[in-house]
Amino acid sequence: MQNPRRARPKPRSRPRWIDPFTPAHIRRLVAEFGSPLLIIDCARVRTQYRALRRALPGVGLHYALKPLPHAAVVETLHAEGGGFDLATTGEVQLVSRLGIDPALCIHTHPIKRPIDIRNAVGAGLRVFVADNPDELPKFLPWRTSVELLLRISFRAPGAICDLSRKFGCDPEALPALARRAHELGLRVRGLSFHVGSQAPNPLKHLEAIETCHRLLAAARRERLGPFDTLDIGGGFPIGYGARAPDIGRFCAPLRAALARLPRRVRVIAEPGRYIAGPAAIGVASVMGRAQREGHWWYYLDDGLYGAYSGQLYDHAHYPVEALRDGGERLPSVLAGPTCDSIDVIAENLLLPRLKEGDLIVGRSMGAYTLASASDFNFFPRATAVAVNRSPGDTGGV
Ligand SMILES: *Cc1c(COP(=O)(O)O)cnc(C)c1O
Repeated sequence: MQNPRRARPKPRSRPRWIDPFTPAHIRRLVAEFGSPLLIIDCARVRTQYRALRRALPGVGLHYALKPLPHAAVVETLHAEGGGFDLATTGEVQLVSRLGIDPALCIHTHPIKRPIDIRNAVGAGLRVFVADNPDELPKFLPWRTSVELLLRISFRAPGAICDLSRKFGCDPEALPALARRAHELGLRVRGLSFHVGSQAPNPLKHLEAIETCHRLLAAARRERLGPFDTLDIGGGFPIGYGARAPDIGRFCAPLRAALARLPRRVRVIAEPGRYIAGPAAIGVASVMGRAQREGHWWYYLDDGLYGAYSGQLYDHAHYPVEALRDGGERLPSVLAGPTCDSIDVIAENLLLPRLKEGDLIVGRSMGAYTLASASDFNFFPRATAVAVNRSPGDTGGV
């Protein structure tokens, strides 16, 4: 008879390095953590951050938490020397809990309740954004401790996610806003903008940098404040399925425009999607299937109300594939789990015949996916699992 002590299975040891983008490791993580999953590769977070650093030398990068507010991403970027762009009390609490120095953080929501300002100031933040005269008096109780960036709007009707209608003051209105801040005794550090997410080309960034260059100089001539900071926002694009645009080439005209700024102007940026997007995949399982009108319908445990919510809110389309090879490829539909008819992820796909439990992987699903998921119909959101948390790591979660 076997010794029962020896018969006990050994705890499975993790590979030292997990490449979450390979089928074997995906299966292994699902076996361990269940489905659906959002697998975050901190190694990819690092490579994205470093690539943007190289593309924008001298620019301080503040990761915008909004697309993927996960502690592992924050800690990874903190170890790389990055800063953070926060917009809500919840985001302030997340970085505070992780012990991040508030001097590394800026608060960029242009419209805030006084309590949001109080919470952020209480956590030690100093730099805030405003874009209209009614926002300015909210800072008066903290006049001596806060500094402002005034957000300018640049119309981008062609952008997939145009933010210029909702936030920002027109360039023509900036001098009056800057004068008002000065009258109130508020210290304006400089200007910021966000040209809209997933910019199709660098032209909007370029126009915005050049206009802000002029506005900074004019405000400085009027002695309205230091005006020595330019925040060029986010919007840096990634490839969904298609080849990723080369970030070095995208940023080349920006580098040239930034090099023309006076030396005293400090430049920062607020990338979100570029860092988080390629760094995660979504993994869902087939719950059941049916043949309808000549198509196989596969019902997954994640969908448009879950991590695929970005297909609605963010207008993104994630490349999806089945982790099953071989066999004839048949016209197929991938649907989410809820009882709502719009909850369909992709139609007219050619997939091998799948069965219950088969895995479906969505690529480039780090940004604006799980962050906007709900638990509609009580289908639980995907579990976020972070791997490769520190360089040369053991792959700990
Ligand atoms: C959403 C947001 C970002 C991040 O934008 P990306 O396009 O994801 O890089 C940066 N700054 C502000 C103020 C935002 O609202």
